[in-house]
Amino acid sequence: MKVAFFSTKKYDQEFFESINTDFNHQLTFFETALNAHTASLAKDFDAVCVFVNDDLNAETINKLADAGVKIIALRCAGFNNVDLKATEAQNIPVVRVPAYSPQAVAEHAVALILTLNRKTHKAYNRVRENNFSLEKLTGFNLYGKTVGVIGTGIIGQCFAKIMLGFGCKVLAYDIKPNAELKESGVTYVDLDKLLKEADIISLHCPLNEHTHHLMNAEAFEKMKESAMLINTGRGALIDTTAVVEALKSEKLGYLGIDVYEQESGLFFNDLSETVNKDDDFLRLMSFPNVLITGHQGFFTVEALEQIAHVTLKNLTDFEQGKELENKVST
Ligand code: NAD
Repeated sequence: MKVAFFSTKKYDQEFFESINTDFNHQLTFFETALNAHTASLAKDFDAVCVFVNDDLNAETINKLADAGVKIIALRCAGFNNVDLKATEAQNIPVVRVPAYSPQAVAEHAVALILTLNRKTHKAYNRVRENNFSLEKLTGFNLYGKTVGVIGTGIIGQCFAKIMLGFGCKVLAYDIKPNAELKESGVTYVDLDKLLKEADIISLHCPLNEHTHHLMNAEAFEKMKESAMLINTGRGALIDTTAVVEALKSEKLGYLGIDVYEQESGLFFNDLSETVNKDDDFLRLMSFPNVLITGHQGFFTVEALEQIAHVTLKNLTDFEQGKELENKVST
């Protein structure tokens, strides 16, 4: 199939070209993001392959249909950036990579916790400057602390098991509790109890109309004093204005985020010579107890190989008229 890739970086090209030797699709890589203005680039391609910040609204999708695109392949798990009503109306299937090395994201959430807690990012800089003072580097033991996991799907489960390994008490909230996880020692509770009792909360649910701004002013109010909030899910799970207030009032003790509500146009780009005009982002960066990474939770060799393999297989299955096991259902 002729496949147009959008929002591509060198590493996408490298991994996809290597794995494509097993599939033989014709791959064309565009650096630009896919949106209504760039959709015409997909003319004469059978498929588009897109990532988390491509904007597949109804206008984009209608233009893709006009351009002759027959399938949309997401090289990620989340599909909140696709208007599924529009794809259904145009009869364009959407496939995704539902699970690729969930450990990659779960382990990144743990990296954020450990860094925020033990302040290794600050210690690294100090030691390089011959400053061996321990002032203000005090952390806390994870052992015995209560960790709240919101969303215990593939990634949340992995994360919960790692935290059990640290000797934490793990509470979970999910609309569909997982029996196996309960047997592993995780206790399912309602959201209010989790917010009230957890020392660390980690978000692993999808972004949809029910979870948009799940962590809002009311939720921060219910949280334990000085708790830590980690988000490797999607940016808009957190109300940015409310989290800034919670940090200012010192109700929230730590914030570690790999995703940000307004990350589109910011993340995945080298903007080091550009003036950052996002005041909310700059405000967040001004807190000493906030750690931000630029959506790199998925970024391991294992995950990139799996993403390329599953995406190209999804396209081959479509080409061969097979059932699409990774089709996003509306
Ligand atoms: P999943 O579908 O396996 O799990 C999601 C879980 O959330 C399910 O158990 C579901 O029942 C639960 N859920 C749904 N609605 C809920 C609600 N209203 N309240 C509580 N729980 C709810 O997904 P996953 O593979 O574990 O991924 C989770 C999210 O992680 C994805 O949606 C994606 O946004 C994000 N993600 C981020 C990265 C990254 O690089 N940072 C990479 C991959 C995925």
